Amino acid sequence: MQVLVVGAGVVGLAIARTAALRGHDVIVAEATDGVGNGISSRNSEVIHGGIYYPTGSLRARHSTRGRRMLYEFCTTHNVGYNKCGKLIVATDNAELAKVESLLAQGRKNGVEGLELIGGNAARALEAELSCIGALLSPESGIVDSHGYMLALWGELEDCGGRIAFATPVQRISFAAQRWQVQFGGPDAGSIAFDAVVNSAGLGAQALARRIDGYPAAKVPRLILAKGNYFAFAGTPVFARLIYPTPVDGGLGVHVTLDMAGRMRFGPDVEWIDHESYTVDPRRADAFYARIRSYWRGLPDGSLVPDYCGIRPKLSGPGQPQADFMIAAEPAHGLPRLVCLFGIESPGLTSSLSLAEDVVDALEA
Ligand SMILES: Cc1cc2nc3c(=O)[nH]c(=O)nc-3n(C[C@H](O)[C@H](O)[C@H](O)COP(=O)(O)OP(=O)(O)OC[C@H]3O[C@@H](n4cnc5c(N)ncnc54)[C@H](O)[C@@H]3O)c2cc1C
Repeated sequence: MQVLVVGAGVVGLAIARTAALRGHDVIVAEATDGVGNGISSRNSEVIHGGIYYPTGSLRARHSTRGRRMLYEFCTTHNVGYNKCGKLIVATDNAELAKVESLLAQGRKNGVEGLELIGGNAARALEAELSCIGALLSPESGIVDSHGYMLALWGELEDCGGRIAFATPVQRISFAAQRWQVQFGGPDAGSIAFDAVVNSAGLGAQALARRIDGYPAAKVPRLILAKGNYFAFAGTPVFARLIYPTPVDGGLGVHVTLDMAGRMRFGPDVEWIDHESYTVDPRRADAFYARIRSYWRGLPDGSLVPDYCGIRPKLSGPGQPQADFMIAAEPAHGLPRLVCLFGIESPGLTSSLSLAEDVVDALEA
């Protein structure tokens, strides 16, 4: 099939590479002039174990399978990663009960190696930590997400696929059994494809509304939840990812590490109604308070506003967390079209697994 993938984020690239490996003729259309310029370069770069999500949900299935696939991919494709492990910490009895329920949830999801440890055992691993207990997840880690995207792009090209940059998709319609796609940008024009994947991240809903015949009622509402990060201006004190218990809309302000061992904190959850990428320095107050619950030694003045990312959510404040949405023909009635909505965390971890199911759906 001639396949068009819209969006060169980590998910679109993984889908394009999988389709090309299966022998399809693949083009990726990307509105900007590079890969990973959307959500994919504004995240924590964490390879999630797959603990939090309801068993049987797409997020549980794709994060656990995707995590295993991603470690394998990184090993075979020379992409930097560090399976450094993660501690989800409890600082009081209420949090300990939450951590215990996360252990049960993670085991139900088939996450390997989870272990509940006491405060002293946690401090033996991370001396600066203050907690009464913690869930240790040895399978969690971090990845060089840009290196990963470059490797996906390289393999796509090795299989004959290519990316058209500065090529926004403007309109899509179905005629004579093919998808007619109208592109903008310097090389504006129209090309026909057998199959289309809408993997446009924050632009997925807007694009779905420009697909002729796509039922309007089947386009879910896009809800934006910004996640702000603060860098730590000092020598890193943790070697593992440290997470508090989750909060409404996110996993809590946690310690993330990059491949160079630098430490930063975030993301928080800021519900917004339009895209904006500035980090308000005043949010630091809440960061200091939250971080000091598990790291008392956080020095004053050590948090520096860093970057932020926006989660393309399908659920709002106070609502149960929505799942990923993979809308194929049974969902909208249109052949060889898959639209992806709500691919927030753990989308990076899940990317290779999502790609398998999306290409399966195109081939069905
Ligand atoms: C704050 C934050 C922290 C996160 N942390 C993690 C984490 O630690 N681990 C994890 O697994 N996941 C994490 N995630 C989730 C992960 O980053 C995303 O799920 C993933 O990056 C989504 O990739 P994507 O390809 O769907 O979207 P994007 O990367 O946004 O790619 C979509 C692309 O489509 C392009 N586009 C849009 N409209 C059009 C159009 N009409 N025509 C052509 N191109 C178009 C855009 O320019 C963009 O490049 C986090 C997300 C956020 C926001």
